[in-house]
Amino acid sequence: MSVAERPNKLLKGATGDWEVVVGMEVHAQVTSKAKLFSGASTAFGNPPNSQVSLVDAAMPGMLPVINEECVRQAIRTGLGLKARIHLKSVFDRKNYFYPDLPQGYQISQYKSPLVGEGEVTVDMPDGEAVKVGIERLHLEQDAGKSLHEQHATMSLVDLNRCGVGLMEIVSKPDLRSAEEARAYLAKLRAILRYLGTCDGDMEKGSLRADVNVSVRRQGEPLGTRCEIKNVNSIRFIGQAIEYEARRQIGILEDGGRIEQETRLFDPGKGETRSMRNKEEAHDYRYFPDPDLLPLELTAEYVEALAGDLPELPDEKKARFIRDYGLSPYDAAVLVGERTTADFYEAVAKGRDAKTAANWVINELFGRLNKEGKGIEQSPISPDQLGDILDLIAARVISGKIAKDLFEIVWSEGGDPWNIVETRGLKQVTDVSAIEKIIDEIIAANPDKVAQAKAKPTLIGWFVGQVMRASAGKANPQAVNELLKRKLGI
Ligand code: MN
Repeated sequence: MSVAERPNKLLKGATGDWEVVVGMEVHAQVTSKAKLFSGASTAFGNPPNSQVSLVDAAMPGMLPVINEECVRQAIRTGLGLKARIHLKSVFDRKNYFYPDLPQGYQISQYKSPLVGEGEVTVDMPDGEAVKVGIERLHLEQDAGKSLHEQHATMSLVDLNRCGVGLMEIVSKPDLRSAEEARAYLAKLRAILRYLGTCDGDMEKGSLRADVNVSVRRQGEPLGTRCEIKNVNSIRFIGQAIEYEARRQIGILEDGGRIEQETRLFDPGKGETRSMRNKEEAHDYRYFPDPDLLPLELTAEYVEALAGDLPELPDEKKARFIRDYGLSPYDAAVLVGERTTADFYEAVAKGRDAKTAANWVINELFGRLNKEGKGIEQSPISPDQLGDILDLIAARVISGKIAKDLFEIVWSEGGDPWNIVETRGLKQVTDVSAIEKIIDEIIAANPDKVAQAKAKPTLIGWFVGQVMRASAGKANPQAVNELLKRKLGI
């Protein structure tokens, strides 16, 4: 659905409705062993300044040498974003001073980026598919880190991150709510992870978002935007957009003007605050880096990479809908991460695919979420969950007992078939045993029997009693049939 067609997500102000317009610049660290222009390691968490080459430290006379792996990964990412790959691109110097940038400039790409326009489809929970345009993707160097909390009176500098390859992925201003912005970043991260081009670990800073927010009356041109820098969690992105949109609406409704500026989000206070007036591109005095030749690729090289991409979330989702008969929403949930999709496919193989999807999404994801665990930490393996489904399908246990069994396997582990055997969880299909329970309940509740005869839906009460008396093990179908016969309904 295009921006114009989609249902509005307008914010109510004191003087009418406002439209929020969001675009994002995402910095994604390239998965590669070495940095963009030096051979130093990109490993995370080592002692400060232990991974700094002479190039990273900008020693006199050092020359950058492009790391082909970073280029390859950026092209693969561009292909995954359905974007145009430019066979010729240029590295530029973006000049500014920062204590953790010893060169005094960042090597980036400005007028001729490696990757041009593309598109990401974002699935919203209500089934809406939002198309978000990608403006460009370019390669650039990460800066080091200034550490302000290690010393009482001094700031320290760690250059381990200095020179690590970044992909800056710029979206068009196609997002219309905090929820869409969160979903966009989640989808982008999923694509990067499927491709293996960025680990997407926001806590470690491998994925950071600069969020551009403006507001306008519907149908008006774009308003002045503020850029919220380096937001490092999907939740914070939502909070920052909501706060910032409200702030801008407040100013405009009071007759004020929005200043274009760079702001910071303070997660503790849940607010954004001004950091500096927004600099314009010309402030950086971009010029082509004389140390680097333009990057030229052959069409064959790019085609070979395109032919070797893994199945990405959109294609996997389409396949899950087509081959497994899943709803678009269930399919979208399952393909959210490659690991969850793989888990699901292992469970679904040779079994009822929809039942498998229900169990993975409702029981397993529900339980994992409750404990804040990822699928990698699931105490239940696909084989174990598959066994539970087989036990239901073979009518050895009821759906209700299956949930109890799920809990046992979750907390204690073990072979589901053995557990059912040794703990006596087998469903009672023996009609005479069920009949005996029913007879007792009917004898003890003559008033309910009379009511049920008048109003047959009250059979549900009897079913509940029988299930309770059998500790959930009576076969529900047999219980229903016997009850109807005995109550004469
Ligand atoms: Mn950048």
